[in-house]
Amino acid sequence: MTVIRGATTISEDTPEEIRKAVKELLEQIESRNDLKRDEIVSLVFSSTSDIHSYYPAKAAREAGFESCSLFSAQEPDIDGSLPLCIRAMLFVGKNTDPKHVYLRGAKMLRKDLAGKINIAIDGPAGSGKSTVAKMLAHDYNILYLDTGAMYRACALKVLEAGVDVEDEAAIVDLMKDVKLDVVFENGTQKTLLDGVDVSEEIRRPPVSMASSSVSKHPSVRMHMTEKQREIAGRMSCVLDGRDIGTFVLPEADFKFYLTASPRVRARRRYDELTAKGYKVDLDELLSEIIRRDEQDSTRALAPLKKADDAVEIDTSEMTAAEVLAAVKKHIQESI
Ligand code: C5P
Repeated sequence: MTVIRGATTISEDTPEEIRKAVKELLEQIESRNDLKRDEIVSLVFSSTSDIHSYYPAKAAREAGFESCSLFSAQEPDIDGSLPLCIRAMLFVGKNTDPKHVYLRGAKMLRKDLAGKINIAIDGPAGSGKSTVAKMLAHDYNILYLDTGAMYRACALKVLEAGVDVEDEAAIVDLMKDVKLDVVFENGTQKTLLDGVDVSEEIRRPPVSMASSSVSKHPSVRMHMTEKQREIAGRMSCVLDGRDIGTFVLPEADFKFYLTASPRVRARRRYDELTAKGYKVDLDELLSEIIRRDEQDSTRALAPLKKADDAVEIDTSEMTAAEVLAAVKKHIQESI
């Protein structure tokens, strides 16, 4: 007896989608395992609790799996599980080396099978990168690495030390004696300067502009890039930044480039900062965003730029949930 496993996802909970997905999954399992239909003794399905419209077992029966026993069950909600997912377990009456089959993004469920996945999300300030990157990392149960936080931490140190943001040599000198770490607690990134958590402080508006200035220096960039590559080389993660798809990880598995109009982006920053109790001016934020865009996209090394193979999404008129759905749809269709 051999047990073969498989899983797939559907884009909406309709009988038609379930029939299609189950048929495709079972046919793939059969062909990859060189199975004859009468070798299947039993077929067990489980689906996530957001699937109600049809029984996968019934869909299997309709697809011609008639000689085996069939069973469907619904799973309780599991944190980090993929939504709209159908899993299958086939009991086969012969001894064979099982080839498990994971379709339409379902591979993400099994980190051991999926290997390492790096997803790059680039774009200008306020384009919605970090919101979507966080949600995506949560849904796929992988790490979220906010690369902007590293430049922000460097900028904070430079401002505190009274060093000129334009003075590359002085910044390099200063950073030699500083320990900049990113650590992850329950999947959430904390940015530490000499062991002190500065995750909140680095969000202050003066730090934003200074981070853009320090980040244009090649030696600062190379230092951060090394750290980012080291983390991404060790584990699956979603990285957001300006140059992830073009420079830090040109071989990333998936690349997205988010944009939005400057006014929409300034408004988002305004809402975010006022919600945290900062007193900010919308017009000032708008001109800061425009200056930052200009500085980030014209620097010599690794400027803000869409990678040729990145999927571009204009988020101006979209909610975060809509952007997330578009990103996941692309990933699931291309896996
Ligand atoms: O994304 P965030 O606004 O936190 O980034 C702060 C600044 O850090 C950006 O304006 C940009 O100059 C710089 N940055 C960068 N490359 C990255 C991430 C951020 O140059 N990968």
